[in-house]
Amino acid sequence: MNAVVVGGGIVGLASAYYLAAGGADVAVYEKKSLGSGSTERSVGGIRTQFSTPVHVALSLSSIAVWETFEEVLDTDIAYRRSGYLFCARTEETAAEFAESVAMQRERGVPSELLSPREAREVCPGLKLEEFRAATYCPIDGFADPHLALQGFATEARKAGVEVHTETPVAGLLRDGNRVTGVEIDGVDGVDGGSGTDPKGEDDAGRTRIESDVVVNAAGPWARQVGGMAGLSLPISPRRRQVLVVDPETPVPEDVPLTVDLDTGSYFRPEREGAALVGGHFSSTDPEAEPDQDPDRYTKGTDLDWTAEALERASDYTTYFGPDSGVKRGWAGLYAVTPDHHPVIEESLPGLITAAGFSGHGFQHSPATGQLVAELALDGEASLVDISGLGSDRFNDTERLEHERNVA
Ligand SMILES: Cc1cc2nc3c(=O)[nH]c(=O)nc-3n(C[C@H](O)[C@H](O)[C@H](O)COP(=O)(O)OP(=O)(O)OC[C@H]3O[C@@H](n4cnc5c(N)ncnc54)[C@H](O)[C@@H]3O)c2cc1C
Repeated sequence: MNAVVVGGGIVGLASAYYLAAGGADVAVYEKKSLGSGSTERSVGGIRTQFSTPVHVALSLSSIAVWETFEEVLDTDIAYRRSGYLFCARTEETAAEFAESVAMQRERGVPSELLSPREAREVCPGLKLEEFRAATYCPIDGFADPHLALQGFATEARKAGVEVHTETPVAGLLRDGNRVTGVEIDGVDGVDGGSGTDPKGEDDAGRTRIESDVVVNAAGPWARQVGGMAGLSLPISPRRRQVLVVDPETPVPEDVPLTVDLDTGSYFRPEREGAALVGGHFSSTDPEAEPDQDPDRYTKGTDLDWTAEALERASDYTTYFGPDSGVKRGWAGLYAVTPDHHPVIEESLPGLITAAGFSGHGFQHSPATGQLVAELALDGEASLVDISGLGSDRFNDTERLEHERNVA
């Protein structure tokens, strides 16, 4: 089988790796450089504490890979398991936490519902008067997205995957309802492997590349790529920002990634006492236009957001305050769906979609790559029950089950 993957982010490269491991001839087409979309802007969080069973299942299957990444994929991804702590300010959120923890524990996740006092034992800088309850899971943590991406890319290449960078896919080939390949503008540079066969140029000077399966792993651009085959996927790019902060009190490295869920603020330890601080606070969340204004999603943070992010973080922890220093910051894109769950499906014969991961596509990439390979090679997915992740769920928005643990 030949497969073409559109997008050289972590989802595309994990998919390419597992497709090649299953025996497919694979080519990845990335319009810029590997990881240049959302992946290299992620803070690398990996957690089991989600509010829906399908997200927990994607996490457990992915963590099985993250745990063995160094042995199997030969790359140290700086995986640190200092836990995640979610904190609730309201009774309503506390009640939802109790439901989520019960669901997680039924699936073998060692999460716990904590009182604010117990929460301060795992995060000593927490101002406990702000909170009603918390949930904590010690097996959660984070890894380095850049290293993980390189790990998948290197092993994919070793397995024969062709990786083409600076090569945008400009169109999808169709035969009736079936997607039969991709079109790229001009001829690209190929960096190794066997892969798929170019089938010559069309009238517009585009190179046509036929393949049995095309994987749409274009992240925040997935709606655009789906649109090339007439799909209208509700996957919307939304700008998110992160700061690297020199706190007033150093944040110990064993402090969990801590989320003030009712405000959306979060922080996690970085090296040598520094911390990453993020969150989305505005009541509006306009769709980003990454192609019209690329600097806005790749470069630094807004001044007013920076001030608010620090203020919010200092509101619930003693680590941050007026004397905290901002070392640097960056912005990136979430690929948001109406229920904060991805679309993983065969959208049309020959076209698999794996996109719309909101703020959790880095951590779910190992399971997603395996599911894409199963869909392509076996015709159905078995690792995780993804029957609820088809795009047809958006036809009945009233029935959507929303992920609640979103920051
Ligand atoms: C600030 C921030 C913090 C985050 N924190 C976390 C976190 O803690 N944990 C977590 O799990 N996730 C996190 N995420 C989300 C995570 O980064 C994404 O979900 C994940 O990287 C998605 O990977 P992807 O491969 O689907 O998309 P991307 O990395 O965006 O890759 C898609 C690629 O497709 C390419 N492309 C687009 N169109 C075309 C085309 N026509 N032809 C060829 N190539 C094309 C793009 O250039 C891009 O490189 C965060 C995101 C941001 C912005």
